Amino acid sequence: MRSKSSRRDFLKLTSLLPFGLAASNLEKRFGVHLQQPGGQKNVLVIVFDAWSAYNVSLYGYGRNTTPNIDRLAERATVYHNHHAGGSFTTPGTASLLTGVLPWTHRAFESNGTLDEAFVTRNIFTAFQNHYSIAYTHNPWANTLLEQLRDEIDELVPWFSLFLRSYDDEVIHTAFRNDDDIASVSWVRNTNINGNGYSYSLLFSNFLQWLRERNIVDFRKWFPRGIPSIESSYNSFVLEDAVNWIENRLTSISRPFLGYFHFLPPHDPYRTRLEFYNHFAQDGFKPLNKPEDAFTQNVPFSKLTQSRMEYDEYLLYIDREFANLFDQLESSGFLENTWVVLTSDHGEMFERGILGHGTDTLYEPVIRVPLMIFEPGKSTRVDIHTPTSAIDVLPTLLHVTGQPIPAWVEGTPLPPYSASGPEPNRKIYAMRSNKNKKYAPLTRASVSVTQGRYKLHYYFGHKNRNVDEFVRLFDVEADPEELTDLSLSNKDVTDTLLNELKVKLDEVNKPYR
Ligand SMILES: [Zn+2]
Repeated sequence: MRSKSSRRDFLKLTSLLPFGLAASNLEKRFGVHLQQPGGQKNVLVIVFDAWSAYNVSLYGYGRNTTPNIDRLAERATVYHNHHAGGSFTTPGTASLLTGVLPWTHRAFESNGTLDEAFVTRNIFTAFQNHYSIAYTHNPWANTLLEQLRDEIDELVPWFSLFLRSYDDEVIHTAFRNDDDIASVSWVRNTNINGNGYSYSLLFSNFLQWLRERNIVDFRKWFPRGIPSIESSYNSFVLEDAVNWIENRLTSISRPFLGYFHFLPPHDPYRTRLEFYNHFAQDGFKPLNKPEDAFTQNVPFSKLTQSRMEYDEYLLYIDREFANLFDQLESSGFLENTWVVLTSDHGEMFERGILGHGTDTLYEPVIRVPLMIFEPGKSTRVDIHTPTSAIDVLPTLLHVTGQPIPAWVEGTPLPPYSASGPEPNRKIYAMRSNKNKKYAPLTRASVSVTQGRYKLHYYFGHKNRNVDEFVRLFDVEADPEELTDLSLSNKDVTDTLLNELKVKLDEVNKPYR
């Protein structure tokens, strides 16, 4: 009998071969079976970064941003009240991967990493019998995947799905442990600035010519620029990723666990030509909400324009997800595969705040889509119970008949689990990117949602000389969070706040 480690080594070897070549030849030569073993389903997790549920037509948004996903939802379980664990990539992704909250996994600093204990406690180790494959465009999500590298059978290199990869390839291969810093140094040394200055003029000019040659054909398809991260030298098109997954999945061992985390609709919002200005004249009028403590003073006109560009970018991911789904269906994959569609955190276009680089925890920045497609299922189920990113891992383990480890903090979700979460369960989200990893939380934003009430608790931010303040909203009656009840409904506020402080005391204890 083949041991797990030799199987892993063998599978890693096959992953080095050119796509499509590996499967059939190796199957003959080495007798490895790539057919679906009986009863074991594949799991495919698709994450679109910074995708707020607030902007999704499926969840009642005033623009039709997801016509294809709305169609596919007719055969999915749709979660209407789903929350990320954090409000930016690091904590949000880490909660998806580990099934625990940021104060437990400790990946809450900017580009932070997990507590060492979670290197062996995560989705890749929990799915012991699945061949695991993972990819992300996002360098901060990649930091987390790199930390789990030894537990992932096939971690697809970050630079693989970018249009210009040769210089990134040098950097990310040579400086694997410091690739975020290495990229910055590389860009600084090789980019030509506006006045033509660079550290190495000859080399930089040559490199620029090479890079330009590689993407010039794509320019006409992206009027706002080609999608990219960090610099225009990391440009990509989503179609490449979708086609790549479709190809790769046909040749890997089964059952597999795939985690694919794509950058869109993360900024910069650069939709394809087909969707450009699609919403420009639609007369849609977003609510002009009052500014709050953490306002960035972004004018409403700028927020409205950015929102429109974001919404047009959603049309692009909507189409590409549907393409992937349809391709997987026509190749028969969906009969044996659970598909999860979700995000790591949301995005904001209100209260003078743009994006997700904010300490506030209003719903647009933490409420994200969650849809689960069950193999062979053709009807829709709607779930309105509040749910959390930490529930995704235990739900997937539950539906594939595997044990849920004791360290998981989430719970298997309805309709798959008859018991489901307790009706009074608290859903937490947090942000504390300036707090030290192994120190008690003294500078953070935490939200707790219980039933119809959501408490925001901000402390240690030194904002407007107020060290600590709260907000309370009835998110059932007031989903836009317009009427702060923290003074008029003191009982609920005090109860939730006191219970939250007890909880914080508990999670801070190991770091005192
Ligand atoms: Zn993100």
